[in-house]
Amino acid sequence: MISNSCHARCEADHRCYRTPCFEAQLKAQVGLLPVHRNVELCADHLGAMVQSLTAWARREGLTRGQVTVLAIDPDYSLRAADQAFPRTLSRAFEFGAIPLG
Ligand SMILES: [Zn+2]
Repeated sequence: MISNSCHARCEADHRCYRTPCFEAQLKAQVGLLPVHRNVELCADHLGAMVQSLTAWARREGLTRGQVTVLAIDPDYSLRAADQAFPRTLSRAFEFGAIPLG
């Protein structure tokens, strides 16, 4: 599930004011409970944040899951409001996944 929050800036660092172009999604399971986390990131913070999410998940013992990296379209909300674009147009596309465990 992609959050519908409207973060206008990178979530890696509160001092970073760049517009996020990527989203890292962690999807895993602890016992029967699903664990979902997602952060929107600028290009500069993407690598480090994906690494720390993966490391965190492994520390927590989340071995069944993965961290998915998506490229997101910062102009999506503007374009979604434009009726010329189909509603089904995806906001994000996946370009990488790191399995846990
Ligand atoms: Zn950043």
